[in-house]
Amino acid sequence: MAKPANDLPVGLLTLQGDYAKHEAAFRALGCATAGVRRPADLDRVRCLVIPGGESTTLSRLIDSAGLREPLCAFALQRPVMGTCAGLIMLAGELAGEVPDAHGVRTLGLLDCTVRRNAYGRQVDSFTAPIRFDSFVTGDDPFPAVFIRAPRIERVGPDVEVVATHGGAPVAVRQGRLLGLSFHPELTDDLRLHQAFLDLV
Ligand code: GLN
Repeated sequence: MAKPANDLPVGLLTLQGDYAKHEAAFRALGCATAGVRRPADLDRVRCLVIPGGESTTLSRLIDSAGLREPLCAFALQRPVMGTCAGLIMLAGELAGEVPDAHGVRTLGLLDCTVRRNAYGRQVDSFTAPIRFDSFVTGDDPFPAVFIRAPRIERVGPDVEVVATHGGAPVAVRQGRLLGLSFHPELTDDLRLHQAFLDLV
């Protein structure tokens, strides 16, 4: 008999980016993780994280691995968290870019429009305290690390804005999909990884 979903490991898209830091965060929460590189790997995970990295490369690797359709099908059934470049991949639309064969082709799962690199260059990276209200436990603000982060410029009617910074959404949720414009895996604060597990 197939294992119940919650006994399966947390899946990490291990094509590109800083998935190892997410792995460490889930391990610290006592969860096993498994890498996803091929469509069949999706059958063996309970949820999926698309990490930060470089969305142009990620987009190309998703296509060359034959993962585009399988990822979209997976997201209809199980939770997916996209952080930074991962949020870009989840997004419905990109602002300020003309779609072409060499650019990012998003998965179009999360009804929002994002603008890549809108918070500045790598040297402009910063950490900001973000208030999450009830989505994470505790009252302390979450230390959100922004690195060439995408700005969420529009959200659709089914999207809940979970947290904002400087007037723009930085954490959004649409059912089982969670999109973060920053990197929760680059701090020791595990509350967002826990909140994602709680969606599972
Ligand atoms: N700017 C990157 C991109 O467009 C994302 C940066 C990140 O994931 N830290 O893919």
